[in-house]
Amino acid sequence: AKERGRNTLAYFDGHMAETVRSRTELEKELRQALEREEFEVYFQPRVDVATNRIRAVEALVRWNHPRLGLVSPAYFIPACETMGLIGALGLWVLAQAAHQQVAWAAQGWDLVVSVNLSPRQFASSDLLHDITEVLRQTGVNPARMELEITESILLGEDQHVLNVLRELSALGLTIALDDFGTGYSNLAYLQRFPVHTLKIDKTFIQDTDANRSLAELIVSLSNLMKLTAVAEGVETQEQLDWVARRGIAQYQGYLYARPMPVRAFTNWLRNHPV
Ligand code: C2E
Ligand code: CA
Ligand code: CA
Ligand code: CA
Repeated sequence: AKERGRNTLAYFDGHMAETVRSRTELEKELRQALEREEFEVYFQPRVDVATNRIRAVEALVRWNHPRLGLVSPAYFIPACETMGLIGALGLWVLAQAAHQQVAWAAQGWDLVVSVNLSPRQFASSDLLHDITEVLRQTGVNPARMELEITESILLGEDQHVLNVLRELSALGLTIALDDFGTGYSNLAYLQRFPVHTLKIDKTFIQDTDANRSLAELIVSLSNLMKLTAVAEGVETQEQLDWVARRGIAQYQGYLYARPMPVRAFTNWLRNHPV
């Protein structure tokens, strides 16, 4: 959320009308939203560039606000982070995603489902235990779950983070580095931390030639490190052609499919090869 002075937060509803609320009002609404199950998980496929087959599905949370309609996570995730609600919301999303993985697998679509983890979630010493509990309760195959983290969490070379990621990796989960390339340039951590997937930020895919030469560097890097490269935010055929020429393995974007609610996504799966 965009900060407006000290006590108000601005965010947008589905029609992009700006609403300004006090911090306490928003905090109350967000707590209620968890209790009242106003959050909903949407799913967007990630596909193989060469075959167009679905390789994974990203879980993306939305807030169905009773009056404002659909609210973007770009606004309420940062609010949840500052208000100490991201732990509970993050685990709820993980549980929904794991539950769906199991439901789809039972219908013959044994997809990898990826879930975003906020750096703030690592502040909890219970994170590993909580994730393990979700895996146990849903009965999901951990090898079918991926966690998307951002570079910032690896920069501190924090022993707690390293331990958690190693344990998760040992359980079979894979780790993706999200928005890759936007943050920092110290890549030493790539050798120390268990990372399997590099999601190349959409600015590199969508922007200028200058950015694209950086993207080429990232592709070389992922090949060298034997990581799976994923292009984010592919909107046009021209962008996809470029991604294919660069040898990027997978892509995600509006060109192929937008994020969809679970029922729409399940219907969509019937006509799209896994
Ligand atoms: P992200 O993890 O980088 O997710 C990708 C974002 O790009 C999503 O926005 C997705 O809808 C959007 N996108 C996909 N294809 C295209 C495209 O072709 N063009 C463009 N312009 N955008 C595309 P969304 O769903 O609004 O989520 C925004 C951010 O909110 C996410 O960025 C992620 O950082 C955060 N977020 C979403 N769900 C969760 C969650 O459950 N937990 C946490 N911690 N963060 C979440
Ligand atoms: Ca992501
Ligand atoms: Ca991303
Ligand atoms: Ca992001």
